[in-house]
Amino acid sequence: MMEYRCKKFAMKLLIVLLLLASCGKPPADPDPSYPGLITYNVPTEYYNKYKSQLDWISSDIVSLTGKYLIRFVPNDSDPKYETTYNALTEYYSTNEAWIYFKEEKDQFTNVSDGAAGVAYVGSPSNPMGVIVMNFSISMSWTGHNFRQVLNHEILHNLGFRHTFEDDYSIMNYDYIYKVSGVTDLDTERLAEDFPFSMEVVTIKDLEKIGAARENIDSDKYAIFLGGNYGLSESRAQTIAKYLLSYRKLASMRDLTAREKDLLTHGILGFGFEKGMAALENYLQGDQNALDDLILEAADKNEISPEHIQELFGEIFLK
Ligand SMILES: [Zn+2]
Repeated sequence: MMEYRCKKFAMKLLIVLLLLASCGKPPADPDPSYPGLITYNVPTEYYNKYKSQLDWISSDIVSLTGKYLIRFVPNDSDPKYETTYNALTEYYSTNEAWIYFKEEKDQFTNVSDGAAGVAYVGSPSNPMGVIVMNFSISMSWTGHNFRQVLNHEILHNLGFRHTFEDDYSIMNYDYIYKVSGVTDLDTERLAEDFPFSMEVVTIKDLEKIGAARENIDSDKYAIFLGGNYGLSESRAQTIAKYLLSYRKLASMRDLTAREKDLLTHGILGFGFEKGMAALENYLQGDQNALDDLILEAADKNEISPEHIQELFGEIFLK
């Protein structure tokens, strides 16, 4: 009898301990096959080193119904770019999300020493997948610090912005290192923004169809550009991709000056400001600067100046 009671007590204690252990933790993933919104590639070395932190983060960032929104996969390559803009361009062309690691000062040069990490800000319906962790600064990359910074950056990718004052969030610099993982407020906000029910599979399928349609659009657009501007097939495809991804980005938020530069450099071979100035001069009656730029761009694309003039309008006027 006594023994039975003890067992019962032990059982109760176990249940209480289990409840305590799960307190504040997000619900378990009810559908492990659900791929999540973002699958981040992580260089294998870092993936292995921070595996337990990555597991923690994936179980922190969940939808209302507890579905994992993000996944991490090890990748044997460890790409470095000159700037995050190059990484962004890569993201738009491959659609592969990455956690990059800046190890030397001459990598990702636009990531300043003052930043432990940077991320592009996406939105719930259009999450981004570019994050750079700054391992070139004199900061101790303990598991805790790594987890807090990466969690913060991923929330940027999912559309969260910085908060201030008393806002008890990992997006508030006052709390980022003081808490473990995300806060309850962050969990609530994630649930609001990502209220997936089991219907998510359908939504996801629609997104896939949408993505496929985008590819078809890109091909059609390339054919249109090639036919109308006399571009070679590969040049037309490159330009179609540039224009479509930048328009998609522009529909979400204002393009930064650097992004506009990247666009005009990639297509025409000169900076956005230079193009804008030439266009303004042209509108005021001085055509010289524009003529020069048009010749430059015609040379780059191996098409006629007349065609470039029209392409110019396509970029600057729409
Ligand atoms: Zn931030």
